[in-house]
Amino acid sequence: MFDNLSSKFSNAFSSLRSRGKISPSDIENTCAEVRTALLESDVALPVVESFIERIRSKSLAALPTLQSGTNQAQAIFEIVNTELTEILGGSARRVRFAKTAPTVIMLAGLQGAGKTTLAGKLAKFYADQGNTPLLIASDLQRPNAVNQLQVVGESVGIPVFAPEPGNGVGNPVKVAEQGIAFAKSKLYNMVIVDTAGRLGVDQDLMREAIAIRDAVSPDEILFVVDAMIGQDAVRTAQAFQDGVGFDGVVLTKLDGDARGGAALSITSLTGKPIMFSSNGEKLSDFDIFYPDRMASRILGLGDVATLAEQAKKAFDGETSAKLEEKFARGDDFTLEDFLEQLEAMSKMGSMSKLLGMLPGAGAMKKQIENFDESEIVRTKSIVQSMTPIERRDPKVLNGSRRARIALGAGRKVQDVNALVDKFAAAQKMMKQMRTGKGLPPGMGMPPGMPAPIQKVSQQPAKKKSKSGNPAKRALEEKG
Ligand code: GDP
Repeated sequence: MFDNLSSKFSNAFSSLRSRGKISPSDIENTCAEVRTALLESDVALPVVESFIERIRSKSLAALPTLQSGTNQAQAIFEIVNTELTEILGGSARRVRFAKTAPTVIMLAGLQGAGKTTLAGKLAKFYADQGNTPLLIASDLQRPNAVNQLQVVGESVGIPVFAPEPGNGVGNPVKVAEQGIAFAKSKLYNMVIVDTAGRLGVDQDLMREAIAIRDAVSPDEILFVVDAMIGQDAVRTAQAFQDGVGFDGVVLTKLDGDARGGAALSITSLTGKPIMFSSNGEKLSDFDIFYPDRMASRILGLGDVATLAEQAKKAFDGETSAKLEEKFARGDDFTLEDFLEQLEAMSKMGSMSKLLGMLPGAGAMKKQIENFDESEIVRTKSIVQSMTPIERRDPKVLNGSRRARIALGAGRKVQDVNALVDKFAAAQKMMKQMRTGKGLPPGMGMPPGMPAPIQKVSQQPAKKKSKSGNPAKRALEEKG
């Protein structure tokens, strides 16, 4: 979403870094470049003006206190990072839980913004943390909305209160009231109310939203907005703020290729924080919105914190502990372990999204876009076509076994050979790591990313190496 902005920022800073000493006019040039980049990204003009003004004045003040051009460029970069985090909302705000359950969250926004999808994502997110959410189907306008919420609820195992069929039938305010009463009687500790939107802001929409608000007294009203609608996102937000009011914003469709101006303008203009973001249609494509992590991504520093969290979630404790024990015992890393890892990788979501969180991802944009997501599926199908004995001891894989596996997986024998070779190299790497600190279990095998594995296979381990860290090892070997 922020590709264009990211590359403009990166250009501005690399030209700044190349200066021996930075002058006030260099700062003016950088400010002008950043200003153009923000305007091109659809950031609202008043937000751009005040942002640039802060950067200019803070950078000019910092300039004389630093000697070298490199330090000056770094200081200016830090100023931009801080200010960017600030316009994205500063620090993440969490949902406020009601003193007396249930905590009521009401979703508001235009039709198609992603409210129903979000209802499921939020419910799952909070259920995973031990809460007991109930979804209430108060969108009785949009065709199929009630049914969609039921499907979403079912897929995440969350009950849905839906006494009316919707499609224009039923009273959404009554449904909301009854839903809250039901939640209280059944001791649900959280209620998420899905409400109707319209294609544009209109009075009927606002009246209905206000009536539901007054009936359920929400602890949080979340305004859900499609980031792809650009400048309109800000106008819609202002209309909802004047109408029903809201406490926080959820930006959806951050996976789209819109220019991201909404994300950068909405908090400054409404004074309300972005609390969650949604970046895909799958229920797992959702996260708390962290302004600092988003600023990092925009500035090309990556989002390693989110990456680490996702890895932790996907590689459950038991699997990692089992692997760790195996390692400690000195057992070999087998294709069975590899299969478990592949499954965990698939749980982490799309590989290109994950790679996009790495520092410097902007420079690898093309490769990341071209990343073949089905590589993991193909690799999995080959391993799944093997017998348990073959998975534990790939040495038994003679020609006829390989031909059988290829047939079973619907692949060519060459594909099976390539996987077995890659795996042998990886196994070797795992052995090396056992002797040193190495990578944490679960993080060592990026399927479909053969580069680091091939590197190891080209440079077999030196027996005497002490460290699992290749850089450190290289030093030791040199020494
Ligand atoms: P509602 O009318 O506000 O309830 O919107 P829906 O939840 O039905 O979402 C509208 C469409 O947007 C559906 O096709 C969703 O699958 C899709 N959608 C929702 N959130 C996202 C997202 O973050 N990214 C993408 N690409 N699509 C989304």
